Amino acid sequence: MTKERTVSETKARGTESSALFLSGSLALDLVNTEMVVRGKKRDVLSSPDELSHWWQEALAHHPEREHVEGEELAINWTLELLEAVKEVRQALRTLCTHLVEEQAATAEDLEALNRVLSLGYQSLQQTAQGAIIAVYRAHDQQKGRILLPIALSAFRLLTEAERQRLHKCKNERCILFFYDTTKSGTRQWCSLGCLNRSRSIHRYQQIKEQTLQKQKEPAR
Ligand SMILES: [Zn+2]
Repeated sequence: MTKERTVSETKARGTESSALFLSGSLALDLVNTEMVVRGKKRDVLSSPDELSHWWQEALAHHPEREHVEGEELAINWTLELLEAVKEVRQALRTLCTHLVEEQAATAEDLEALNRVLSLGYQSLQQTAQGAIIAVYRAHDQQKGRILLPIALSAFRLLTEAERQRLHKCKNERCILFFYDTTKSGTRQWCSLGCLNRSRSIHRYQQIKEQTLQKQKEPAR
């Protein structure tokens, strides 16, 4: 049910935005709001309005996220909130880069995530049907409703996921990350687009080498 809704919503919004949600993880999808388009770096989150738009889509794409009490209430989309989200994004990018390059994480980046995790705490709630469920509560509702689900997604990725399945796209010009959920565990590219671009660059280089080789051959 949830999945069907997500797919139709994605279609309704067109293909451009769905390209933003290909990583398989809410935390990585935030990192991927910085991308390279035709050789130029592009920031999808360049205003509070764009953050609001991205967040609505992220909610639809990640029904598996941790839910924070009051998340259905309106959020005040301020520059301050945008800066807080970008700070977490930067810490996550550095952490993921270090992980895929098999370097140690820095204390500052972990601390940036820990500060967000400390915005909230787990608690118990009774549903209308009488079941007891776990929900997160945020000390700072304004920041917590966005930053907590992201930090908790990162928490799972860093502590519970398989490290070998976290990748940066193999296209050297691309800066997107993804978590490989394929059965074979052999995904190397963020998207078919990147796979095709890399193949054509490779073909171009092959042709260039062959041409150079022919030029080197003595004329008869
Ligand atoms: Zn890519």
